[in-house]
Amino acid sequence: MKKKYDYLLVGAGLFNAVFAHFAAKAGKRCFVVEKRNHIGGNLHCEEIEGIHVHQYGAHIFHTSNREVWTFVNSFVEMNRFTNAPMAQYKGEMYNLPFNMNTFSRMWGIRTPEEAEAILAEQRRVISGEPRNLEEQAIRLVGTDIYTKLIKGYTEKQWGRDCRELPAFIIKRLPVRLTYDNNYFNDRYQGIPEGGYNVLIEALFGDCERVLGVDYLSHRGELDQQAEQVIYTGPIDAYFDYRLGSLSYRSLRFETEVLNLPNWQGNAVVNYTEREVPWTRIIEHKHFEFGRQEKTVITREYPQDWEPGMEPYYPVNDEKNQALYAAYRKLGEAERVIFGGRLGEYRYYDMDKVIERAMECAKACGLKRGTL
Ligand code: FAD
Ligand code: UDP
Repeated sequence: MKKKYDYLLVGAGLFNAVFAHFAAKAGKRCFVVEKRNHIGGNLHCEEIEGIHVHQYGAHIFHTSNREVWTFVNSFVEMNRFTNAPMAQYKGEMYNLPFNMNTFSRMWGIRTPEEAEAILAEQRRVISGEPRNLEEQAIRLVGTDIYTKLIKGYTEKQWGRDCRELPAFIIKRLPVRLTYDNNYFNDRYQGIPEGGYNVLIEALFGDCERVLGVDYLSHRGELDQQAEQVIYTGPIDAYFDYRLGSLSYRSLRFETEVLNLPNWQGNAVVNYTEREVPWTRIIEHKHFEFGRQEKTVITREYPQDWEPGMEPYYPVNDEKNQALYAAYRKLGEAERVIFGGRLGEYRYYDMDKVIERAMECAKACGLKRGTL
């Protein structure tokens, strides 16, 4: 007998929002079950003092994929926000990513040639292929920048010494010999006007949903309702941790309303010294050029993950990758599609999650087109 729904979507994050859109367009019926009390996953915004507060950390949309950019813009207008974070080290302010503004402030120089000379001198301490994050960082930007802007931040973020971290974490940070403070190299960038909730609501449309329900506690009855399950929760939880628990990094957010219109003058300020316990402070109104009377700031504290906490960042070291591969193998025997950041245990940016969800919709016969 045909079941009530074509798809049971576990988790109401971006992955399933995109999938739900294509399923509805193809005339399929979906039911989404979400354990939090809101949809949107980590993109969710809460409105405080008329400001869209990014409840699970700063989210800046950026992509080089034109299809993804056009897709997003068909649901919501993207504004002209460009991420240009500042770094504060013991009261000194530096521009990020590492560029001529940073080098000029650090060394009192003016030209790319002067910067090149200092970088070349400082990079020389590392010979051969970098074996860890510290060596990779010094190879990229030399010892001064490593000491002031990378070491403390990274050790707070990952809870480990830079010599015990893999080099790849830092490889994606741009280093430029131009006065360009744009954090991303991607062609397109912006924040949805009206916040991310507008995008998520538009994607889910009138898809049936239930909030505050953990799929894993009601699996039997829920599975019976749909032909196909798409699961975007943690893959190890799906298998009741039977091969062991995957590792994550978690975060704690402290949000404060301040009775003044502009507190730090920028959306994101990183605190790069070890002694300050938070890694960054977000001033949310600046994402949308807000002119409200008050402002809302959030301090972000990294923390070790323990069962029961929100799993934010997968720890893609060898041990965890091997464990994930073993879970993936178990997954092949299931009638379930595992998707998204937690289902695939990958640190995906939003544009990549959209691409993956489009690919999934295509594989299910719901979407045509180039992807
Ligand atoms: P999620 O958003 O995690 O959604 C999964 C959903 O499943 C969650 O709502 C969860 O509650 C639910 N769920 C889990 N288990 C169950 C269960 N058993 N039953 C029911 N529901 C369940 N990307 C960018 O492009 N730019 C950025 O600036 C950026 N900044 C980020 C900052 C932080 C701090 C973090 C953590 C991520 C950031 N990202 C950013 C990445 C972005 O958040 C992800 O790409 C995106 O949220 C992934 O969507 P998803 O649907 O895969 O997962
Ligand atoms: N990083 C750093 N100092 C900074 C910003 C970033 O050392 O001020 C390093 C850090 O190791 C971090 C990595 O660069 O984990 C990637 O940073 P990005 O901002 O891309 O990722 P996020 O921390 O936002 O996930």
